[in-house]
Amino acid sequence: MIQLFMPLGFLGFVYREIKGSMANIEKMFELLAQQPKVLSPPGAPALQLRNSKVEFRNVSFSYQAQRTILHNVSFSIEPGQKLAVVGASGAGKSTLVKLLFRFYDCDSGQILVGSEDIRDVDQASLRKQIGIVPQDTVLFNDSLLENVRYGRVDASDEEVTEAIRLAHLEALVAQLPEGHHTMVGERGLKLSGGEKQRVSIARTILKAAPILVFDEATSSLDSKSEQAILQALREIAREHTSLVIAHRLSTVIDADKILVLHQGRVVEQGSHDELLSQQGHYATLWQVQQQHSNESVTP
Ligand code: ATP
Repeated sequence: MIQLFMPLGFLGFVYREIKGSMANIEKMFELLAQQPKVLSPPGAPALQLRNSKVEFRNVSFSYQAQRTILHNVSFSIEPGQKLAVVGASGAGKSTLVKLLFRFYDCDSGQILVGSEDIRDVDQASLRKQIGIVPQDTVLFNDSLLENVRYGRVDASDEEVTEAIRLAHLEALVAQLPEGHHTMVGERGLKLSGGEKQRVSIARTILKAAPILVFDEATSSLDSKSEQAILQALREIAREHTSLVIAHRLSTVIDADKILVLHQGRVVEQGSHDELLSQQGHYATLWQVQQQHSNESVTP
């Protein structure tokens, strides 16, 4: 079960590489059995996190030769701060996260977590320090309680129940025929996209890693679900260094820093107010989203 859990948080990314159902468990096992592209150096020490700072220094990266996806990307997230990344589809946002988890190595530059170059440390120990709320959460055919427990398999029922509460899933639980013990997943109760993300948030709360990555769902959620997710995230983000891949500006307004990626380059970075006053890419994006949004967001 532990082996099953360990890569679970990362699957949100690789799922997109599997055509078909996210919950197709056989595909998932096939995927987990694949040889990873990047391995820890032999005898690599475990990451000893002295602080939870995350830093990209002049990172360039290409999946294939002759097509550079990230060009000289630099940014840092101080411990306890929240960085939001915005940019058009294909700008390279998810690629940043794949590099942070060291699914790939950058071609040049450095990625540091807690001031350690991630290439020098044991991969599993790096990934242990990062909790992820992916776009697509996998639910196993099991009870809600057990689905949340995947966040930390040795968590007690009380700890799991508390994580469910903190993830604002209690109202849902109250409506379920067998409460926490209701089966969810492919053959059980189908949860909405927003509810599934809150299951991920509950798992992340249980995992209690100091660094949090939130990959916002692209599909539009109703504003009640969105608010519930944002509220749950805000509560856990306070304790974490967070990296948020954002599609809606409601997620970024309260970020300490916003990074604007355009065709793999950082074209702007700053707070919401700073970027609005620059009247550049972010300000344009903001205006467009304001026009097209039915959300009542106040800056
Ligand atoms: P979106 O908002 O649509 O999720 P994104 O900003 O997260 O987009 P990425 O997923 O990082 O963008 O992709 C950046 C570029 O890298 C895209 O052009 C994409 O086609 C390419 N890319 C992503 N994954 C791979 C891969 N495994 N192999 C080759 N190219 C890839």
